[in-house]
Amino acid sequence: TARSADVIVIGGGAAGLMAAITAARGGRQVVVLDHNAEVGRKILISGGGRCNFTNLDIRPECYLSQNRRFPYSALSRYKPADFLELLKKHHIPWHEKKLGQLFCDNSARDIVTMLLAECAQAHVRVMTDVKVTSVRRSDQFSVETSAGNFSARAVVLATGGLSVPKTGATGFAYDIARQFGLSVIQPTPGLVPLVFGAESDRWVHTLAGISLPVRVSCGKRVFEEALLFTHRGLSGPALLQISSYWQPGEAIRIDLLPGQNFEQLLGDIKKAKGKMRGPAALSRWLPQRLAHEMAGQYAPDRPLVEWSDKAVRHIAQSCHRMDVHPTGTEGFAKAEVTLGGIDTRSLSSRTMQAEKVPGLYVIGEAADVTGWLGGYNFHWAWASGHAAGMALAEE
Ligand code: FAD
Repeated sequence: TARSADVIVIGGGAAGLMAAITAARGGRQVVVLDHNAEVGRKILISGGGRCNFTNLDIRPECYLSQNRRFPYSALSRYKPADFLELLKKHHIPWHEKKLGQLFCDNSARDIVTMLLAECAQAHVRVMTDVKVTSVRRSDQFSVETSAGNFSARAVVLATGGLSVPKTGATGFAYDIARQFGLSVIQPTPGLVPLVFGAESDRWVHTLAGISLPVRVSCGKRVFEEALLFTHRGLSGPALLQISSYWQPGEAIRIDLLPGQNFEQLLGDIKKAKGKMRGPAALSRWLPQRLAHEMAGQYAPDRPLVEWSDKAVRHIAQSCHRMDVHPTGTEGFAKAEVTLGGIDTRSLSSRTMQAEKVPGLYVIGEAADVTGWLGGYNFHWAWASGHAAGMALAEE
């Protein structure tokens, strides 16, 4: 039983639903196919259940891609205010948490309900429990699924990246892209906790549970946010951000006391409280267990009066410039996003259409565009979905 539509969107996530809504509002007949029992599963688990759906400060620099300028066009045509307009229409309350990050007041479910209501209003046909197995093209696209065949003039690949397979993530978009001659940049885990296997960094594991504000850097990239020590290594927003820029073999530098002059602070306390011992002194500025660890590694366990200026300088520098050597990441199971993906050099940045395959569109995380932590990835999904939807409506 072949069913036909103008557009078939494969993947009912953030990007796919936005593309479908936009194209359907423009008069296209649209079918969305998703193999999960419900659409938007990643939206539901995102942002701790409250979905960090966009960021007030969307800038192209907040995105990684082999084709750095690619996201500009779509991002410039779909702004955070556009998404907020949609929330307003559906009376969905939201708030800014920090750093421009916008979250639902109630639940991420509000976003999925809103998108489905928009789909219904625009007569998008949303089909779940439908697994797409192949896409072929002759004069039209023929899409083979677990629920029979569909045909359409255009196909939108919106199946996302490989992160968190238990949400239904697959490499389907990559397979189809390769089949049509598009290249795929090696997908790797991004926004992911890093692990430590080297003997010299063993101590990291002993601090599991500690969290503190730091500055982390890798090469020229710097993030200031919270760092979290875990049983497996390091996590927390600062570390997740830097993980997207980290390459195996590289060190990550951590400033435990960003913006402070620790040498000065230690010098002052040495003068004021000469009898105090190292760990006690350090724990004035650092969490206790970390203070003990740093004191144990770098400072003699003697009263401060007995510390030489050189020793004070040494421990201060160690706290400002702590180098750790991750041996790997926690992998796709724990990665919030996928770096790499379908090479955007073969796509139009205005329409998201594959230049050599008319009618084939790639949006969202399936493409080689990855945002920072903080609502940037959903914003890319909305913006790229919107760009494709507009193009489909104009066609
Ligand atoms: P997805 O949302 O992954 O949607 C892809 C859809 O395709 C899925 O519904 C899947 O079931 C379907 N599919 C896959 N293969 C097939 C197939 N063969 N046939 C049919 N259907 C298929 N980003 C933020 O901006 N803010 C956040 O707060 C945030 N929190 C996150 C929390 C977690 C735990 C995770 C894992 C990610 C989070 N992200 C967040 C990232 C964000 O969820 C993704 O970048 C975004 O969902 C990508 O949207 P997408 O539509 O491209 O893909």
